[in-house]
Amino acid sequence: MAPIGQDLTYLHDSTLPPGVRVRVPLGNRQVMGVVIDHEDSDPPTDSLKWIDQVLDDQSLIPQPHLNFLRWAGQYYGVGLEVMLSGALPKWAREGRAPIIETQAWQWNSEFEKPRGRVRLALFERSQSPVATESLKDHWSIARELIKTGQLVPAELPRQPAQPPLALNDEQRVVVDSVNQEVKPWLLEGVTGSGKTEVYLHLAQAQLANHKQVLVLVPEIGLTPQLVGRFEARFPGQVVHLHSALTDRKRWQGFCEIASAQKAILIGTRSALLTPLPELGLIVVDEEHDTSYKQGESPRYNARDLAVVLGQHRNAPVVLGSATPSLESIANRDAGRFGALTLRKRARAESPTAHHLIDIRGLDLHEGLSDKALDAIRQTLERGEQALVFLNRRGFAPVLTCHQCGYHPECPSCDARPTVHREPRRLWCHHCDHQSPWPVQCPSCGHRMAVLGQGTQRLETTLSLAMDPFPVTRIDRDSAGAGGAGKLLALAQDGLPRVLIGTQMLAKGHDLPNLTCVVVVDSDAQLFSGDFRAIERLGQTLIQVMGRAGRADKPGSVWVQTHQPDHPVWPRLLTGDYAALAQDELALRKRAGLPPHGHMALWRARSPNAGEALQHLREVASALRDGLPEGIRILGPTPAPMERRAGQYHAQLLLMGPRSQIRTLLNRPIPAPSRRVWRGLDIDPQDLF
Ligand code: ADP
Ligand code: ZN
Repeated sequence: MAPIGQDLTYLHDSTLPPGVRVRVPLGNRQVMGVVIDHEDSDPPTDSLKWIDQVLDDQSLIPQPHLNFLRWAGQYYGVGLEVMLSGALPKWAREGRAPIIETQAWQWNSEFEKPRGRVRLALFERSQSPVATESLKDHWSIARELIKTGQLVPAELPRQPAQPPLALNDEQRVVVDSVNQEVKPWLLEGVTGSGKTEVYLHLAQAQLANHKQVLVLVPEIGLTPQLVGRFEARFPGQVVHLHSALTDRKRWQGFCEIASAQKAILIGTRSALLTPLPELGLIVVDEEHDTSYKQGESPRYNARDLAVVLGQHRNAPVVLGSATPSLESIANRDAGRFGALTLRKRARAESPTAHHLIDIRGLDLHEGLSDKALDAIRQTLERGEQALVFLNRRGFAPVLTCHQCGYHPECPSCDARPTVHREPRRLWCHHCDHQSPWPVQCPSCGHRMAVLGQGTQRLETTLSLAMDPFPVTRIDRDSAGAGGAGKLLALAQDGLPRVLIGTQMLAKGHDLPNLTCVVVVDSDAQLFSGDFRAIERLGQTLIQVMGRAGRADKPGSVWVQTHQPDHPVWPRLLTGDYAALAQDELALRKRAGLPPHGHMALWRARSPNAGEALQHLREVASALRDGLPEGIRILGPTPAPMERRAGQYHAQLLLMGPRSQIRTLLNRPIPAPSRRVWRGLDIDPQDLF
């Protein structure tokens, strides 16, 4: 089903509930559609066609969820149909029949105890309802018993299988608050403070009321503990939805949730669009994670939409994180979100020593200082593991002087200029000031260097330096899709080794024997043109540094920098994310940046140089005409990484109060030519 992009009207001889799939004629084709509304038409209008076929007996998408999808489609400027096709798995869009399997079986008491070892075992097991999955080990015999009516369909119990842990006082306050008041809550708690246990208790209360629970996680493969604990506590009640599933599994999972047969949906961002008819609670774990923002159309943010869904469905929303987004902190500080905190660790941990290494002018080995190499070697020789962390993800490179740490600033405003490579120049995206790359440092005369470059040879260098200890690189290239979890699981053997990794190593599996963390390069983020760079740096480093010394052994953290005097270090090295966040919020407020102002970004791309930029110039001049007060238009500029995949990218940024941006976006603007693609990004997360 490609979204048709309009509401069409058809006739049917009875009233169909909204959310039912139908086949209808369209031109000389037949297409699948979803009923979104009905009106009485008596007598039928001749010009209307009839619905050919009704595919569902029951609504797949209840009315309140349709209303939510419509709201989201409007907000992100894509329309209901795009959100609907995001909500429906492929098989649903193809019009396939729902897959509903019996979830559980119970012994039919009209039958006597059977004979035979296996039969007897199945008899014992099925005295109370038993999940279909747990009969699979003797499925051929179980199937016979089903055929003969000895095993009959049953409902799975909605009580926890494992006794829940007794909550500590802080956790108790959190659970009681959420159970007592329906609103969005920000739950701030360091890793290990017991957030997952809180989610489990909250879920249990919902299940007891026959309600459903939606749990969003950034990436399923990297949150195995959370998924595993939900399954252990609520066996047979958990459905996962994520991108690695087969089309069949997705459709089956969707049906189990949409029919309320199962109570708990754990999934990545698109799971948010799935209809839960009995929705009672939404949890967004690691709410600051940028993967909640979809990078392609529809560019929705699942964290933000979770709050809207909670309002539409009258369900509490719990946003959990050790390092919340500044948006959520601002919402909490303004009283829009409730404040919940877990300060104590649920489990005792060893202290970690933090060191800043000033690398200005030092001889480096593929970016690593002697001090860092010594720390790694000593860790391995003690029989423990070390993590070498490369902090790069979508950040533009930064020019700096290796000798003195000098870095260029925009001469006419506060912002950092962005480094453009082709042609080479520094370009301030805020005031449009452009200047050439300095070759020599204006402060000490040494050669300038580009930071944030790949150190591909790091793995080889480390292998040689740490011989005979193994060095494992874990990133998307080395792991393949969804495979990082496996490499991480391998590292759980605890044998002395070096792990090299990027952001994806920051969370995930417990590595109890990991006691040393080296942060190779973070300076690019200190002076990035992206206003969220420091926030992201704080979130990642706090998470990564928290990986050292999680068990009974003391840990050490080594952070290399050319900027030892930068004000973020005292915050980060003491783990004071709250203070860092308040510093940043004050800066954002002064500059009118989110969350104190809103943004919309027009993105354009074209195979020919200059065309996308030229188109956005036309858009900008159309918008600048009678620009509402309080709105700023920045650009257009080429994107910081202008050439990607054979296309030239450009962007135009609108900043100001949300309602004014909305009004501005309703204005007609020039259409792009055929060679130019243009898309709108509401609340952009990155300005690339
Ligand atoms: P988080 O999700 O914040 O990282 P978890 O819920 O995973 O924290 O808790 C960290 C560890 O502490 C887990 O091993 C968990 O089993 C344990 N834990 C959490 N709450 C309690 C509790 N109330 N009593 C005992 N152990 C707990
Ligand atoms: Zn400037």
